[in-house]
Amino acid sequence: MNPLYETMQVSVFERMSLAAAKHGATNLGQGFPDFGWPDAILEEAARAVTQGSNQYPPSRGLPALREAVAAHYNAKHDLALTAEHVVVTSGATEALAAMIFSLVEPGDEVIVFTPAFDAYEPMIRRAGGVPVEVRLEGPDFRIAREAIEAKVTARTRAVLFNNPHNPTGRLFDRDELDAIAAVAEARDLCVISDEVWEEILLDGQDFVPFSSLPGMAARTFKCGSAGKIFSLTGWKVGWMIAPPGEAAVAAKAHQFLTFATPPNLQAAVAKGLSHPEWLQPMRDGFARARDRILAGLEAAGYAAIAPAATYFMVVDLAASGIAMDDEAFARLAVEEAGVAVVPMSPFYFDDAPRNLVRLCFAKRDATIDAGLDGLVRAKGLAR
Ligand code: PMP
Repeated sequence: MNPLYETMQVSVFERMSLAAAKHGATNLGQGFPDFGWPDAILEEAARAVTQGSNQYPPSRGLPALREAVAAHYNAKHDLALTAEHVVVTSGATEALAAMIFSLVEPGDEVIVFTPAFDAYEPMIRRAGGVPVEVRLEGPDFRIAREAIEAKVTARTRAVLFNNPHNPTGRLFDRDELDAIAAVAEARDLCVISDEVWEEILLDGQDFVPFSSLPGMAARTFKCGSAGKIFSLTGWKVGWMIAPPGEAAVAAKAHQFLTFATPPNLQAAVAKGLSHPEWLQPMRDGFARARDRILAGLEAAGYAAIAPAATYFMVVDLAASGIAMDDEAFARLAVEEAGVAVVPMSPFYFDDAPRNLVRLCFAKRDATIDAGLDGLVRAKGLAR
């Protein structure tokens, strides 16, 4: 048998969503909203399908979208991006793959903070690289300079950083960004900055793009996602942003992954980016959903870590009085209590903590309430 059958895992998100469908459970597992998108962008996409192009667009993306992405960030953060910095990809997932394939050579080490989005580790490995874990300890999940420095070697090529952070919902603060920047500067490293959650800020905060830190623009490879910005995760329109010479190399890697991304959805996203006023109602809705689920979890005796950004939160099973491990609890919850959650051990590389699960709360009141009912049942059934 192909040995990769054992070593490559089925993503925990796919696993839990399939289980939710099989058992008819409320899905608080995989991260997709069931409300919040601007209807006008759907009309734009429909128009682009019937009246626009349905043939291969340029591999690097529609010029209109590349311009719109650059203009969006320039207006928000006073940057000086051009279309030459931007490569449109099929979701941020593909941007990550293209960036990693353009940067990482066999034997190169990439520092990854865990808990981490589950795609990073297998992608680094398939590029021949070595993912090196820097574990963030709960409940604060803070980044410290010494912890990064302790893992840097002569083979370290890059740091892969995700801000705001899936799964903890943390928005890292300036000291933490500065810590990464200082190590990148001192050890001549690239920083792959996964900023897909930058618009999902729940308390009116400002987002600081990593490339805006002094000296970091030349080292930063950013990815973004229209799926997250507009709450349309199935669209899989994303992009990378890098210095033009580096973007050109990653664009070559992208040619041999998907080559291009549906042109009609690209056109709709370009239009959507010119309407920043569409985004605040969505943030307000997610902040209300966070408050609703936090109140319900507290009433049910769950120990949840309140998030400042993203639509995820971590629940500590042990601190909630549940002695089961994350996988066993997730199985019980979906099979017997009617709610899917995501066990967090797959977000770590080695010796994962087994007491953490992730919830997605980007859901209508009725979905949250059904999920909370399931969590109450699960707590009653748990040993
Ligand atoms: N990075 C992070 C941190 C994510 O949470 C996700 C999606 N959950 C992605 C990348 C992938 O984004 P996309 O759906 O645009 O490929």
